[in-house]
Amino acid sequence: MFQCKEDCGKCCTVIPIPADVFYAATDLMQRPITKVIPFDLNTNRQSKTQVFPMTEDGTCTFLKTDKHCAIYKIRPTICRITGTEKRFPCPFIDENGVARNEGDIKKLEEEMTERITQRMMQIRNS
Ligand code: SF4
Ligand code: SF4
Repeated sequence: MFQCKEDCGKCCTVIPIPADVFYAATDLMQRPITKVIPFDLNTNRQSKTQVFPMTEDGTCTFLKTDKHCAIYKIRPTICRITGTEKRFPCPFIDENGVARNEGDIKKLEEEMTERITQRMMQIRNS
């Protein structure tokens, strides 16, 4: 069974967050946001129900310095399924909970960076 590495947070970047979750948890933000962009990646349109809280360095605003999530109990779906499904792979551990080899880690880290870069471009060009 998949389980995150201890104190990782590597995939905690700018992610889609349900608007109600975000606005209910603003007092738990760990770093300043530069802008909140209401956007749905699936429809490529502005959204009333989903937001991207942008930060200076691209780290999720809810990631604590100890690499734990400040909104763990109400974290978005994407945070819950990352690592457990092939379409959202964890670079370090596969869906069965097996540690990946160095080659796969490097490849998946590069793919994750590319995916995030594309996501940011898609949002910024909206
Ligand atoms: S899913 Fe992987 S990259 Fe993300 S926090 Fe867990 S161990 Fe780290
Ligand atoms: S909401 Fe929590 S689990 Fe999801 S990306 Fe942010 S810090 Fe990570």
